[in-house]
Amino acid sequence: MNANLKVYNTLSRKKEVFEPLNAPFVGMYVCGPTVYSDPHLGHARSNINFDVIFRYLTYLGYKVRYVRNITDVGHLTDEVSDAGEDKIQKKAKLEKLEPMEVVQQYTNSFHQMLKKINVLPPSIEPRASGHIPEQIKITNEILQNGFAYESNGSVYLDIEKYATRYAYGELSGRNTEDLLEGTRALEGQEGKKNAMDFALWKKASPEHLMRWDSPWGEGFPGWHVECTAMSTKYLGKQFDIHGGGMDLQFPHHESEVAQANACFGCNPAKYWLHNNMVTINGQKMARSLGNFIAAEQLFIGEHPLLERPYSPMTVRFFILQAQYRGTLDFSNEALIAAAKAYKKIINGLKAVKKLAQDPEKPIATNEALNEEIVKLCEDCFTGLNDDFNTAAAIASLFNLLKKINSFSTLATDVHTISIDTFAQMQKTYIDVVENILGLVEEKITDSDGFIHNLLELYSEAKAQKDYPKVDKIRAYFKAEGLLIKDSKTTVDWQYEE
Ligand code: ZN
Repeated sequence: MNANLKVYNTLSRKKEVFEPLNAPFVGMYVCGPTVYSDPHLGHARSNINFDVIFRYLTYLGYKVRYVRNITDVGHLTDEVSDAGEDKIQKKAKLEKLEPMEVVQQYTNSFHQMLKKINVLPPSIEPRASGHIPEQIKITNEILQNGFAYESNGSVYLDIEKYATRYAYGELSGRNTEDLLEGTRALEGQEGKKNAMDFALWKKASPEHLMRWDSPWGEGFPGWHVECTAMSTKYLGKQFDIHGGGMDLQFPHHESEVAQANACFGCNPAKYWLHNNMVTINGQKMARSLGNFIAAEQLFIGEHPLLERPYSPMTVRFFILQAQYRGTLDFSNEALIAAAKAYKKIINGLKAVKKLAQDPEKPIATNEALNEEIVKLCEDCFTGLNDDFNTAAAIASLFNLLKKINSFSTLATDVHTISIDTFAQMQKTYIDVVENILGLVEEKITDSDGFIHNLLELYSEAKAQKDYPKVDKIRAYFKAEGLLIKDSKTTVDWQYEE
């Protein structure tokens, strides 16, 4: 376990030393997607950011139970005023499908994207529609605790009543009085005492498709209550980390805090973590602006804003070049640069795996170099320990990579560092790249064997001075974005950077 890890807590608005409630166990809940459309860049970013947090905590030795839900009911088209039509139902009507067909279709497409960008599956992936009794129970308890009221078959959380005991707005930095004042003019709508009050349970109109029995008649749960039900069911009333995108801070997470206080008398999470949004060429990404890019469009290059396709690992690397709370702007120039840098990292991975010290050869340690490499290895973790700063970790990796490349090209003798330092260098580079950042080699061809055979043909052709054949093979490699590494003794390949 690592006492050096600091995380920025949205609740306290500062970095805090990470101390789980019940180490080595860590409970982590992250709000998953509402599955009514194909996943986009925002989904890719949020899931990659929390994937690295999950991976790093696991790497440090914590036993992480990572719960990431699927929202398949209750998320309405107007998120702030808690009104409009259910997003899944709207899509189902449009496409003449069962709501659960919509849910399945987009859950599949979400999972396909995650697999491509190498996001690990969570420990539990619960669905809102599979937890209706739990949501009814929480609603009932909040009613009994006096923080909610029933109105015409719906149940609302009473913000004015809640504010007598707790601060509604503490997470998102809003003032309860201001919030109440700003919405007073809208009082009385839909049977609410105050427009700020949000639904825990909603009465279903006759045409509403997704409906369940409840003590208040047929209806469906409010959006926010699902996360309180699923997080506390699997992680307990209080758990360590609650995460999600910054856009979820209000009203979604603020309402989760209110529900947990009203039901259990405590804030559900010790640390609230929020990732920043994605902009496209400096603009907010939105369907209405025509700059909305689905992840799949990016991978195949099919969007007016894209000059070419970008591979899933390029996208993953690009996202990790920013710390998760920092802004991230997508542009072709930035992605092309990321594609090059990713290849450098992977060439380094291939190189470091091939490096070896010869046990027959004596070690003649260069103390200064030895110390420098130990420091470079430590630096890779300094960034990660500073609120999972992947940008800093990548910068340190490139410094370490310079040394690895120098050993690899024989510019520096690998026997001038100690056996321990050599092992540390190899382990650090491989662990940080593959296990923590989750960057893996995207194999360009169908199998390793094919390239290997081509290289043998290349060596033969060269020995026989069959230059047309040599050129042909070189041309093939070039077209695939590869480069033949030709030295006096060996022939190998690497990605063209
Ligand atoms: Zn949620």
